[in-house]
Amino acid sequence: MDGRAFDWIREELEELDRLGLRRFRRVRKRGQAGEFLLEGREVLHFGSNDYLGLAGHPRVVAAACRAACEFGWGAGGSPLVCGYTSLHEQLEQALADFQGTEAAIVFSSGYAANVGAISSLVGPGDVVYCDEANHASIWDGCRLSRADVRFFRHGDVEHLKDQLEKRGRYRRALVVTDTVFSIDGDLARLGELVDLAEKYDAMLLVDEAHALGVFGSHGRGLVEHAELLQAVPVRVATLSKALGSLGGFVAGPKAVIELIVNKARSYIFSTALPPPAIAAALEALSLLREMSFPGKELLLRAAWLREELRRQGWQVGPSQSQILSVVVGEPEKALRLSAGLLERGVFCPAMRPPTVAKGRSCLRISLNLSHTPEMLEQLVLALDQVRTQVPV
Ligand SMILES: *Cc1c(COP(=O)(O)O)cnc(C)c1O
Repeated sequence: MDGRAFDWIREELEELDRLGLRRFRRVRKRGQAGEFLLEGREVLHFGSNDYLGLAGHPRVVAAACRAACEFGWGAGGSPLVCGYTSLHEQLEQALADFQGTEAAIVFSSGYAANVGAISSLVGPGDVVYCDEANHASIWDGCRLSRADVRFFRHGDVEHLKDQLEKRGRYRRALVVTDTVFSIDGDLARLGELVDLAEKYDAMLLVDEAHALGVFGSHGRGLVEHAELLQAVPVRVATLSKALGSLGGFVAGPKAVIELIVNKARSYIFSTALPPPAIAAALEALSLLREMSFPGKELLLRAAWLREELRRQGWQVGPSQSQILSVVVGEPEKALRLSAGLLERGVFCPAMRPPTVAKGRSCLRISLNLSHTPEMLEQLVLALDQVRTQVPV
């Protein structure tokens, strides 16, 4: 770059290098959920959110192809102008049916769904209470809403209660939480959050991104698993994880969805999803509806893996789901471990600040149904090898 004005950027990047916090992208060449070609070799891979292996399912792929032939690829405009097709309408209806709510609205990503939902529900003069381990899109939604934001310690309902008690003179209050937390795979204390929200007259919004398709007898999410579908009427989730497509959605009462259509800037000022992505999500949803307890096997395997890793002496985080973390502390350690595993043909991403708190760098392991028991054995073996061979 020529301009002096941009010189600071090189220094900033060098600083990230020095701290072991520089981010980079690996190029994947073909392959789906369980295995893929990375840097010229086949690797086993534990980074994908395609939990049910639906992204490459022949029915899903065929549905996307048919939609591309019929509607073309791009949507051509915002949903409020001309981008909202009969497929979009059909998917929203199917999601509402599936979630047992009056209505649903599909955003171009889960990120946009959180930003749009939160900033529609609260604004200046309101207060939002946010678990500090919530997904970045929730943090950003809170900030963009221009409501006052109170972060409560992760999973600490007592801390939330204290804050609600000291609420003061706000117009409206919103409590927002992930249901399955994305790094450690631990679960929100939904029952207690419901009670607190009710007691202190606050709205509750939950994000089921990692729970959809995994928790609950129909895969509706942790809210279904906890039998709180009635008590938690507004739920955000993504089409990009267990449903193997792209997009996010909010399911809830008609009035809430209407408000979002009218207020959510991340919805109004962004192009609607391509019809093939919508058709893929519709087909994935219909596959999901054919399953019962879709996450059962996945959760059993994750429990097995946690036990194996603890036996090897790793510090496994508080996971209760298909996601688990192996906590090592410093970012360099996490990078070294991840590189050591890759040399052994296994990919597990290293998570570092600001994604995790300082001193909590880890490997994150996400299981999906494409992993066979043999693949899990291979992961366990590779981790055992790096533990003794990689200086950590
Ligand atoms: C992945 C994720 C999102 C964002 O969803 P995208 O569809 O990838 O934009 C939102 N919330 C949580 C908890 C997530 O894990």
